[in-house]
Amino acid sequence: MVNGPVESRLWERGAEGSIRASLEAKPLCESCVGRLFARVGTGLSNRERGRRALSELRMKGARSCWLCRGLVEEIPTFAALVIDELARWQSETFLVGCRVDPDLLEREEILWAELGLHTYEPIKAEINREVGKIVEAEVGRTVEFNRPEVTAVVDTTMDHVTVQVAPIYVYGRYRKLVRGIPQTRWPCRRCRGRGCETCGFTGRMYETSVEEVIAEEVMKDAEGQDHSFHGMGREDIDALMLGKGRPFVFEVRKPGRRSLDLPSIQKRINLSGSVEVHQLRPSSKEEVVTLKERMCEKSYRIQVRLDEEVPLQKVNEAVEALTASEIVQRTPTRVAHRRADRERERRVLEAEVVALRGSTLELRLRTEAGTYVKEAIHGDEGRTRPSLATLLGTKAAVVELDVLEIHDEDAHGESLEGDTAKDQAEV
Ligand SMILES: [Zn+2]
Ligand SMILES: [Zn+2]
Repeated sequence: MVNGPVESRLWERGAEGSIRASLEAKPLCESCVGRLFARVGTGLSNRERGRRALSELRMKGARSCWLCRGLVEEIPTFAALVIDELARWQSETFLVGCRVDPDLLEREEILWAELGLHTYEPIKAEINREVGKIVEAEVGRTVEFNRPEVTAVVDTTMDHVTVQVAPIYVYGRYRKLVRGIPQTRWPCRRCRGRGCETCGFTGRMYETSVEEVIAEEVMKDAEGQDHSFHGMGREDIDALMLGKGRPFVFEVRKPGRRSLDLPSIQKRINLSGSVEVHQLRPSSKEEVVTLKERMCEKSYRIQVRLDEEVPLQKVNEAVEALTASEIVQRTPTRVAHRRADRERERRVLEAEVVALRGSTLELRLRTEAGTYVKEAIHGDEGRTRPSLATLLGTKAAVVELDVLEIHDEDAHGESLEGDTAKDQAEV
């Protein structure tokens, strides 16, 4: 007889005969029987539901189950494997997935088709849920379906667990205080990082990069396996990055630790002498996208060498004319290999002559987002029109270029004079 109150029927009237016939031909364990009626009523485990069904049919659960062949009994073992693996990966949330012998899944489908039931639950769902419950109780982490920090996938035929670990992201702003290092790591072109004679067996084109200086400290704490650097644009290898710095998001792939002491990391990076970071905080994949799309006005300090000496009066006039012009820029030769060749119009919003010594000229410029600033000076052999060079009527070469500020916070109107004092204080 049935134990306890029966809230609802497990199967439709008249179905009993065919269910019994199926179970006689294909004997199932209590859990596998219960799983056939998983969506009927609530509050029972599959095993309890199976017991009830079998008792209504006056049958017993099979010791050797035609369907799972004892797999359900292994759930605690799978949970133990997951717990072991999770110990290596710090997280607050997790999710369990599993791989099951395809033959078993085929048997499962045969049974569903034979019975014509729509109340079943797939065995994978049961394994995932039951393993998840045990792990949750044991390690105090929460099952999260949408964006789990760690996903543990149990291969039930091999008794093996693999993990997918969501990356962590750290936002910050960096200042680059030395020339000659690129923003991101730059593997040797010849050997692609393996090490060769050309790169002195370092595997890289440059000794270090902003990314690597930051990675040194972040990776130590995050125990990550790899990293990527997402900058809001980039400056030249030879340019300094000053002012409040350039926004970036640092991505740690497969981190062992997710909660980082960012103030301590910041302090340690800032001892490098080459790169300084500020405002470190946790970030997200979404912020990488918005950061990459963002275009801002920028202020630069530029040192220019003129082909001949030009009087200050004429330089001032040329600089004024430059700010008054729509500057038409064809994609510069230096970036033509990675960008489509097209024309854009940009403006130099503000320009100031800081110093003129002989044929060496120092300028401060504030330009519209997306201006090719070097080309606005030297003209890129006519591809940028006008340029300071054509306005002066002499050739002009950019000797040094520093980014003084990326104006990502203020949309417009902050005057160059207003910035100057601050920049000088920070440089
Ligand atoms: Zn079974
Ligand atoms: Zn090499």
